[in-house]
Amino acid sequence: MTKSKYRFDSESLSYKKINSTRKDKFLNFLSYFSASLVLAVLYFLVFSFFFDLPKEQRLKREVEFLTFKYEMLNNQMDHLTQVLKDIQRRDDNIYRTVFNAEPVSQSVRQAGFGGVDRYAELEGYENSRIVIETANRLDVLKKQLYVQSKSYDEVIDMAKNKEEMLSSIPAIKPIAVDDLRRIAGYFGYRIHPIMKVERFHEGMDFTAPLGTDIYATGDGVVSRIQRDRSRTGFGNMIEVDHGFGYKTIYAHLEEIHVNRGDSVSRGEIIGLVGNTGFSTAPHLHYEVRKNNRPVDPINYYFKDLSPEEYDEMIRLSQQGGSFLGM
Ligand SMILES: [Zn+2]
Repeated sequence: MTKSKYRFDSESLSYKKINSTRKDKFLNFLSYFSASLVLAVLYFLVFSFFFDLPKEQRLKREVEFLTFKYEMLNNQMDHLTQVLKDIQRRDDNIYRTVFNAEPVSQSVRQAGFGGVDRYAELEGYENSRIVIETANRLDVLKKQLYVQSKSYDEVIDMAKNKEEMLSSIPAIKPIAVDDLRRIAGYFGYRIHPIMKVERFHEGMDFTAPLGTDIYATGDGVVSRIQRDRSRTGFGNMIEVDHGFGYKTIYAHLEEIHVNRGDSVSRGEIIGLVGNTGFSTAPHLHYEVRKNNRPVDPINYYFKDLSPEEYDEMIRLSQQGGSFLGM
């Protein structure tokens, strides 16, 4: 059954039936349809403005999760940066100081990156800032780690050298003396035993019975031997070249147990205490030379001198006194 439509006729004051055609019906339908379509779209727009669709909600949650993850990564990088700073500090202040090396310069450590467009492909997104920031920090960390590992390579090299250096530098007393009072003459201005005037004494004199063992005080090569039983000068003498600018001299010997060119190691017996050369009593005249200049041997017994003994030696050395010849 189809509904009929009526129109009010004001002239006849009565309703008249309208006979609507198919076309009219279709147009009618179309207008209703388009109106509801517009309304639906409007509803959708208003709805989606205030509420999210499930898919959007999912994506939003995903973005929130990733942003959170990025923040976590940044926190971890804060921590790593701190750890790296500690390592750098230790490198500069301890390892490099030990080996007398310059700290790694800040300009090398903090060197940036060339190229402005390094992170161009990360631009233009809502979360670009945190992503770029994170990528940048990671790059900086990578670079600093690289600089640090390079620095450690250097330190390892220095340590290897240092080992050789430590075994070469004179570091023990040339004869076994338990009583420091056996050290008769110290380095510096001392009274000359015969002339009774102050002369610069370029080494240390150890009194000891004739024939007492004399040790090489560091690894090295015998660079000079002098055989001289006259009453002048050093008498029988050995010079050892330790490398790194160090030489030691052992004078007034009774016997020489090495030849020129021999390699000697610390603690090895190289001769015996004597009274040759200009000497007023059996003793060893011992010199340490750094770059061919005599230095105070008192600072080169660190292997076998306790801090207390060192203090005692310093005290005794300050009492002046004479030496035993040369
Ligand atoms: Zn002397």
